[in-house]
Amino acid sequence: MEGEEFRTAAREMADYIVDYLTNIRQRRVLPEVQPGYLRPLLPSAAPDTPDTWQDIMADIERVIMPGVTHWHSPQFHAYFPTANSYPAILADMLSDAIGCIGFTWISSPACTELEVVMMDWLGQLLGLPQHFLAASGGKGGGVIQGTASEATLVAMLSARTKTLRQRQQQGDTHTNHSTLVAYTSDQAHSSVERAGMLAGVLLRQVPSDQEFAMRGPALRDMVKADIEKGLVPFFVVGTTGATPACSFDNLREIGEVAKEFSMWFHVDAAYAGSALVCEEFRYLVDGLELATSFNFNPHKWLLVTFDCSAMWIKDANEVVDAFNVDPLYLKHDQQGQMPDYRHWQIPLGRRFRSLKLWFVMRMYGREGLQAHIRHQVALAHQFEDYVKQDSRFELILPVTLGLVCFRLKNENSEVNEALLKNINAGGVIHLVPAKIKDVYFLRFAVCSRMTQPEDVEKAWREVLRQTQLTLEKK
Ligand code: PLP
Repeated sequence: MEGEEFRTAAREMADYIVDYLTNIRQRRVLPEVQPGYLRPLLPSAAPDTPDTWQDIMADIERVIMPGVTHWHSPQFHAYFPTANSYPAILADMLSDAIGCIGFTWISSPACTELEVVMMDWLGQLLGLPQHFLAASGGKGGGVIQGTASEATLVAMLSARTKTLRQRQQQGDTHTNHSTLVAYTSDQAHSSVERAGMLAGVLLRQVPSDQEFAMRGPALRDMVKADIEKGLVPFFVVGTTGATPACSFDNLREIGEVAKEFSMWFHVDAAYAGSALVCEEFRYLVDGLELATSFNFNPHKWLLVTFDCSAMWIKDANEVVDAFNVDPLYLKHDQQGQMPDYRHWQIPLGRRFRSLKLWFVMRMYGREGLQAHIRHQVALAHQFEDYVKQDSRFELILPVTLGLVCFRLKNENSEVNEALLKNINAGGVIHLVPAKIKDVYFLRFAVCSRMTQPEDVEKAWREVLRQTQLTLEKK
């Protein structure tokens, strides 16, 4: 395919994308295909001679769409959202065309420099503490990681190196990876446990309180018990908007414990961080100034397509020092004047992802982003009100952001499981469950940017319909 052919095909693809997203409500949100559905639809090997673009376009509906779970359907209410917007799609197109691998400043100066500035813009939009921003002139700065899981791992590995080096300098010959202990709440995302496995350190889950929040005293007790055993606490992850029920750890209390025991304090706000563009939600991160690093995913809730996970570090040298290797072929004359982001992440290669932040922040503006978050939170409250008005149901937690956790009040887990199964089999909406302290519940997340009050009403009607069928069959 050469330029002119691409021009025509790209227009056709743009039409297809707009039609797909505009008419997405007409598609069944969860596909009905069975595992292995796709292979029989394709030839057994790649073609010997080129196919035409028209052949490929025709296969999108035949091969791909039957097996797509439509995450951007206003009937999709599972997990947490993944973001979508036209400016971000345009940015990804341009990023693919430039196709640079921005691992050092010289490998594509615009890629690095736009990222530095965008991470400052974004940090300001969220009202982050000044020390996280490069423009503050301190040691802090931001970087775009692929996912929140990577951000947690990067923070944990950096903290591990920092602690081991400090201990070595103090003449401690006993401390090694296996004596280091990291902490997080029992509500934290599984990626924290995974990071502990990958870093080869012990990971403790601190029991959360009745609002599913990790609190300082429970953390302190665990840390003290570990010190008595000769172990070395070095890292704690607090979560703002935990995955099961969107609960919020007490960052101030955790930060104080982290300070007391010289632990790195990482805050994972993968989903909820986007809400900080609205001043009224900033109380959720009270104490954030005590954090060593902070991460959230604009690709979840801030209209930036996957992947774009924003991470800020109070002292970026602590990450760079942990990951720095310097082969001759990656050195350049301007080293040290701007970040070489290869030192801030696990892979070497990196895409031009800051274009997405630039396009989205410019085309929505602060007010547009705030309006998006506020609209989605209002939709969650609409669903919460439906739940409250029906005495057969109960809420697991009051709604704070865009997630409603609910269950049939006087029924056991099996009945609630059957309800969820029936809802998903109905194909009208898609939800996933969660379980906390043996209580099984359903999660209704406002996901699609296009969700409107009538979609929420439709979802509730479907919950009621399936409730009746489930209770009849009991
Ligand atoms: N942390 C929290 C609180 C999450 O909810 C999630 C995913 O939903 C993650 C981390 C993992 O995100 P990622 O897929 O970006 O690694």
